Amino acid sequence: MNHKPKHVQQLQATLASIFDVRVCLFPFVSVAEPDEDCVSYASALPVKGEAFCDCYNNTSVENKKCNCGEDCTADFEWTWDSEVKSPSCMLLDGDKEVMFHVDYSSGTAAVRATDPVCADQNFWEIKMTSPVYGTDMMIGIGTTDTSVDKYSHTFCSLLGRDGESWGLSYSGVLYHKGQPKKYSSKFGQGTIVGVHLDMWRGELRFYKNRRPLGVAFTGLQAKKMYPFVSSTAARSGMRVITTRSFPSSLQFFCCRKMREVIPDHLDVTEVMPLPPGLKHFLRYHLHWLLRAAPPARFHKKRSNSYSSKSDEHVLCKKVCD
Ligand SMILES: [Zn+2]
Repeated sequence: MNHKPKHVQQLQATLASIFDVRVCLFPFVSVAEPDEDCVSYASALPVKGEAFCDCYNNTSVENKKCNCGEDCTADFEWTWDSEVKSPSCMLLDGDKEVMFHVDYSSGTAAVRATDPVCADQNFWEIKMTSPVYGTDMMIGIGTTDTSVDKYSHTFCSLLGRDGESWGLSYSGVLYHKGQPKKYSSKFGQGTIVGVHLDMWRGELRFYKNRRPLGVAFTGLQAKKMYPFVSSTAARSGMRVITTRSFPSSLQFFCCRKMREVIPDHLDVTEVMPLPPGLKHFLRYHLHWLLRAAPPARFHKKRSNSYSSKSDEHVLCKKVCD
């Protein structure tokens, strides 16, 4: 590869930056509150055309569980916590899937992971298993001070409403301390959202359908964090499909640098002449980082881009029945 001299230079720079201060933190998924800023991004109709696969475009498999992109053989390091969830959340599928507001919605529900994020590097993926709409559906992290019940009678963007949580809304807006910041395009039913929490650098990054979206938040060191998800939408669901954690190491930093240098559409483990054993190891532990990003899906039409504060009760009937 003619990139090699550049690789060497960049690897040297990376190695020089490895010995940063690092503190153990924990991962979270949290919720944010509904204020005018938040509501202005909300969609009353489900977001269409953002799925990882085509299952949700095929009405004949509408009620069939989509397992695309999921590795059902892997052990899960954590699931959703039946002790730290809103009463209106129901856990399914070995506590990997959460359904919010099973009957109707009168506010914001949230659930936390069973375990805090305590490794240097943490990655997990959430699949949106239901129509995605309403005031907010969020994926993020939070500290032990993030309450899942605080806004049970308020429609809001729960994760990121205060300084104790950091959230990404389905509208593509980031929230922290109640401040919105545009970050990505919307996501909808079937979208796979990846979360990489780097506790070594204190950075949080998201992926949409396996494509990196860049740094979302920094300065996350020295906190105990958990993964969280939240939703205001009736009969909405999310499923955790991947959990990985590992220490920061020279191997990880080298892999990250290779990922930065090698174009996204190429699989690093295919392009680099690696020994078979190492290739197998990396494909298991760092596949999410090293695999080729799927091509961006082409969407002819996004018809529901208008803003409206939705009525979760009415929508439930329209969307889910
Ligand atoms: Zn599918």
